[in-house]
Amino acid sequence: MQFHPHQTVSHLYKKGLFTSLFALWYLPLSAASITYQIEIPKPHTHMIQVEMTLEGARGDVVIGMPVWTPGSYLIREFERHIQDITTRGADGRTLPMEKLDKNHWKIDGGWRDKDIVVRYRVYAFEHSVRTSFVNAEHALINGASVFMYWQGHLSEKHTVHVTLPPQWSTISTSLEPFHVPGNTTFTAHDYDELVDSPLELGNQHEISFLVDGKPHVIALYGLSNYDDAKLVQDFTKIIQVEKALWGELPYDHYLFILHLGTGGGGLEHKNASVMFANRWSFTDQKAYHRLLSLVAHEFFHTWNIKRLRPAGLGPFNYDEEAYTKNLWLVEGFTSYYDEFLLLRAGFYEPEDYFRAVTGHMNNLEGRPGRYHQSLTESSWDAWIKYYRSDEHSKNSTISYYNKGALVGLLLNLKILETTDGEKSLDDLMRVLYERHYKKADAPYAYTDVIQAINQLTGQDFNDFFTRYVAGTDPLPYAEYLDFAGLRLDTAATDSSAWLGITARDQNGQIMVRQVLENSPAWEFGMNMGDEIIAVNGFRTRQFPPEILSELKPGQEIIVTVNRDGVLQDIPLVLGMAPESIHNISRIEAPTEHQRLRYRAWLGQDWPSD
Ligand SMILES: [Zn+2]
Repeated sequence: MQFHPHQTVSHLYKKGLFTSLFALWYLPLSAASITYQIEIPKPHTHMIQVEMTLEGARGDVVIGMPVWTPGSYLIREFERHIQDITTRGADGRTLPMEKLDKNHWKIDGGWRDKDIVVRYRVYAFEHSVRTSFVNAEHALINGASVFMYWQGHLSEKHTVHVTLPPQWSTISTSLEPFHVPGNTTFTAHDYDELVDSPLELGNQHEISFLVDGKPHVIALYGLSNYDDAKLVQDFTKIIQVEKALWGELPYDHYLFILHLGTGGGGLEHKNASVMFANRWSFTDQKAYHRLLSLVAHEFFHTWNIKRLRPAGLGPFNYDEEAYTKNLWLVEGFTSYYDEFLLLRAGFYEPEDYFRAVTGHMNNLEGRPGRYHQSLTESSWDAWIKYYRSDEHSKNSTISYYNKGALVGLLLNLKILETTDGEKSLDDLMRVLYERHYKKADAPYAYTDVIQAINQLTGQDFNDFFTRYVAGTDPLPYAEYLDFAGLRLDTAATDSSAWLGITARDQNGQIMVRQVLENSPAWEFGMNMGDEIIAVNGFRTRQFPPEILSELKPGQEIIVTVNRDGVLQDIPLVLGMAPESIHNISRIEAPTEHQRLRYRAWLGQDWPSD
């Protein structure tokens, strides 16, 4: 039973007993709520039928469709998949509607007491963690791409009724009530919660388990060879290790939606995550660690972004980009921990962890963009650069995931060093969480992070931030790893001749994909899109061309390419491949000081061999 005070008032208003002044006073008290009925009558056509009822609507109302979804910083224009919109009043009459711009519609509801019913269909056939997808087998619904909002009423309660196709049995969602088999009606306190609560519909396999008395569900879609008991055991380890770091599980229940197929990636939500992984991720140890790292990553966001959040990211404006300088902390530190916590949870040995770090380092060091874009710039421009990469991105940009994870590592080592092993990055995360979520529930600014580290360590970290976060100085890996008795080995110089391009075999054609800045190919004018035909007149059908192994850096060669259907000879001088980082290893004779840092950081003693 719902309270409808406006019915009485409206009735009196029609009788002329109320002045318009009273009506104006009264309006804001009007209890509005929004209900969606979703149906997928023919899943194989990928169409979702939505009926949205605006209860308590009076006068003109504006409805809109988000152009992006939180956690994925790209304008996706979800409104482009909306079709067949109709509107009617409670009496069934069609209401006039006008499209105001690309994603807003105005409905002329008049001043009569009524509910407005909006019906529309959504084409959902984009299979990713941040979009919606429906086929004959199942549906993944990400709210921002399916549910329109009622402008001015985002903070009201939102209710969803789901009608499953008869051949489907299960609805998995973190909306309330949680995990009640057979239930088809769910509520969200507001629109943000609605679109932050994905729904998986179909015949997926659900595994439910408790951690600290709180219900957790893994909803698995896709044929695979996983073992239920092992999944519960290993997910629980990750949940426990992250809870220990942050101090609490901050939710009543949590849902992992895991699609097993050919894709990869994840998207975090407040009480859920959506993850795609290869279906054969359970026997090969590397593949399994990749999956666990993804789980650790998305789950870490339960705190780092979904509750502890930077200025700019929430409350959300769904109509335009939301800017922040701090994705290096949101995504970068989460990427630092998604590997590091596998060590803490017992999945990794230190050597496994060092290998993962080495991979991150080579990734950054192989990008000329590290000289041109800082972490704060990369965050701010995520919308136009990170999410819209092209052949030049490697030359002009870095990834806030990649460099952010490395800065997280260095910051941890520096905090350990300056506090004699007493404090670590964990303490910083906890301080920020306490201060900006638990106490104030207010977003943090860039300067708040520096201030918190300075307080934690009693040192001034401004220079660190100026150089490595807001600046493009090379990262001091070796100096900082030495704090913990570790050293970097660079690979023996590769003397093989180098062009400085990446290329791909495309149906037997060797096509240039990227030309690295300041490489021989860059200086002598090879282009993205060139097809490499021959080197020094010898036909090549592979990359790198076989003949390169016979040549030396400094030698002049002729590369024959097909550019726009015309053969061209490009003379160039071969370069030398840049050094790569080979290995992180323990030094032979660590000091007591270094052993102490090593232990404080990795949580295990320096091996006594
Ligand atoms: Zn993330």
